[in-house]
Amino acid sequence: MNEVKIGLEVHVQLVNLRTKLFCSCSSDYRGKPPNVNVCPVCTGLPGSMPSLNKKAVEEALKIAILLNAQPYPVSYFFRKSYFYPDLPKNFQITQYDKAGGYPLAHDGSLKLTSGKVVRIERIHLEEDPGRIVYEGSRATARYSLIDYNRSGIALVEIVTAPDMSSAEEARDFVERLTQGLEDIGMNIKEFEGALRVDVNVSYAGGERVEIKNITGASSVEKAVIYEVFRQKTLYEKGIRVERETRAWDEKRRITISSRSKEFEEEYRYMPEPDLPPIVISESLIERIKDEIKGSYEQRYESLLKDGINEELARKISSNRELYRIYELISSEDSSLKDVAASVLANELSYLMKRDSIERLPDDVSGLVKILMNYDRLPDHSTVVEHLRKWIRGEEVVIKTAVPEAEDLKKEIEEIVRENYSRIKDLEYNKKFEYLMGILIRKYGKERKKALVSALAEILSEMK
Ligand SMILES: [Zn+2]
Repeated sequence: MNEVKIGLEVHVQLVNLRTKLFCSCSSDYRGKPPNVNVCPVCTGLPGSMPSLNKKAVEEALKIAILLNAQPYPVSYFFRKSYFYPDLPKNFQITQYDKAGGYPLAHDGSLKLTSGKVVRIERIHLEEDPGRIVYEGSRATARYSLIDYNRSGIALVEIVTAPDMSSAEEARDFVERLTQGLEDIGMNIKEFEGALRVDVNVSYAGGERVEIKNITGASSVEKAVIYEVFRQKTLYEKGIRVERETRAWDEKRRITISSRSKEFEEEYRYMPEPDLPPIVISESLIERIKDEIKGSYEQRYESLLKDGINEELARKISSNRELYRIYELISSEDSSLKDVAASVLANELSYLMKRDSIERLPDDVSGLVKILMNYDRLPDHSTVVEHLRKWIRGEEVVIKTAVPEAEDLKKEIEEIVRENYSRIKDLEYNKKFEYLMGILIRKYGKERKKALVSALAEILSEMK
């Protein structure tokens, strides 16, 4: 009965964009002097016309796909009116899911570490407001300063259902989301304030209280712990919890009332007449899916289907680049799947971390050579050395002693003898195939012809 319900509204800046959502001002505002990246559009001067940054739609679509949400083929921008100095034009351009409006995407999900699934209600694009800076603390400041460098930066808002029931789950959601965004190439951790969360908390069926603008997963957790405690205390005293908006005070670790919550009517949503609808085609969705190589879960599932074990699959799917290389290798030569999975998850993943490598070469022929000769390389450090050459674009040369024909025959006889108990009951063709697999791994594909004739000779002598 005394149930805690938590829903999140997460704002994610599209950090891979170089310009703002509706104008060509630079989106690189961190560390810049105030009000240098501004123009009539992002400061909302009368007569200025917004035009949509196409790349922003693609980036937002990546997030929708990551969160298994369904994009609407057509969606619209709306004006959300409110009077506040961080938005000089008196409205924010956003998307709205009522009054004939559709968000960018709907009905997604994100799995928490515990396996619990949190529903995503909608995902939409909107513009970031300017940044208000208070002189001293917010409560005592005699005036505030405004920096419009951030005004108009592209944001994606992700709205969850109130499916979380503890502070830990709320924190885990933010952490899983951050990880997922990094997996699809959005390194939001590198940008301060690129992910901001509004948390809705209600206790025992009471009114929903919104805590605005929390940065970071651990602050989300702390804010929820405090807010649940506050509401529980009021409930136990028989005092009704007011519907309101509160702010998280990071220093004092409490939430403070900031304004009573506006009801939706007060925002006077209306269609934005200066922007055309966003149209999303099937082919665009397919292209973006191919680009991000699916979500972590999707990659993991497809590796398991490929017969890769859970541990290796987990390591490879957590890195989009490793997964991309795995796909290239397995389409080039599917017999290399297992050795590829092992080398990618171990030596290559180690090397990428150690040398901070983000992008691997598209030409995998050097890597294929390493994989084919893997069994003949003496140790891990030799493998790493060869991998490094491949990444640098140098030729991979693997020197192996080539035995003379007579010696080769002796070595093969030895291999056949070692494996005899396993193959003796197989049909000839199966026997042959099994042994060839071992020989090719040991001597290399390029010597296949010599190996086939030597093996045929040995097997016929054994009959
Ligand atoms: Zn601008």
